[in-house]
Amino acid sequence: MFDVLALGELLIDFTPALTSEHGVPLYACNPGGAPANVAVAVSRLGGRTAFIGKVGDDRFGDLLRKTLDTEGVCTDGLLTTGEVNTTIAFVTLDEQGDRSFVFYRNPGADVMLEKSDIDRNERLISGCKVFHFGSVSLTDDPSRTATLYAARMAREHNAIVSYDPNFRPHLWSNRDVAVRWMLEGLKSADIVKVSYEEMELLTGEIDLDRGSGRIAELGAALVLVTLGAEGAYYRLGDLRGKVRTYDVRAVDTTGAGDAFLGAFLYCMRGRALGDVLAMSREEIESAVLFANAAGSLTTTRKGAIPALPTLHEITDFQRRGQASLCSNS
Ligand code: ADP
Repeated sequence: MFDVLALGELLIDFTPALTSEHGVPLYACNPGGAPANVAVAVSRLGGRTAFIGKVGDDRFGDLLRKTLDTEGVCTDGLLTTGEVNTTIAFVTLDEQGDRSFVFYRNPGADVMLEKSDIDRNERLISGCKVFHFGSVSLTDDPSRTATLYAARMAREHNAIVSYDPNFRPHLWSNRDVAVRWMLEGLKSADIVKVSYEEMELLTGEIDLDRGSGRIAELGAALVLVTLGAEGAYYRLGDLRGKVRTYDVRAVDTTGAGDAFLGAFLYCMRGRALGDVLAMSREEIESAVLFANAAGSLTTTRKGAIPALPTLHEITDFQRRGQASLCSNS
């Protein structure tokens, strides 16, 4: 049984590293892709994880497979296509460490995941407690159909379905199409994590209570809204509130949301959906605080997967006085 099975893009994030002697930027080749990051985040904490996705038959594909293997993520569902290359993305960072993406994916191997690949991997889906997916695999077919099919299949097998609709404007023809398909994913999800900007995009609301309420109406039992340095907001039935995060010097926010969600899902391990819904305020706030610790620690290091913390690092970070909680939230 897997604590978390993640499905979607596994790709290379080229992140700015140094400047050459000739003054041009040098990029580091970081394994990434939001759902893969979530699987590794859970694995680093000691959870049992698996991944379903597709890479190309090339050096980058080999590197990605090796990375997941090394991290202890089961790669039985990681397929290889000889038709197209492994997807790559270039990440650029502004002075605050906030990032934007340029994808080379026209198409990339991650898009080639097919419905028949899901059927062949039903064993993994029926053997997971939490099934996690995102919205990058919803941009194009065949991966869009395959992703939505897998999420429905996971529900039929009584898994808790987790969804993180990341908005990458580059990958969609326009905003309306993006919102239409990002909302489609909500129909199959029990736990939904969005950033504040994604909440606004999907609901048109700028108020956390109203925006999260709209997402809950669309089917999510538990809504998490990440707020960067201000922590995170949760909504579970009648329980709702903001949980502060830790005061850190952020150098690269890539993967912070994935670390946050991976840590939160790790806290949910061993629970059925009914147990998640029955959590007390104390339980959910403690899980969100743990997730905030994972997210904030991730921002202190460069890259996504390389930056994800271990259980020991998080507990140590939470214990130490220097990891003071931000007082502004
Ligand atoms: P996403 O990657 O989904 O946009 P955020 O950037 O909001 O997510 O980050 C996820 C979590 O990481 C936040 O909820 C927060 O706990 C932590 N985090 C992010 N940025 C910072 C920061 N600058 N300082 C402290 N914690 C941060």
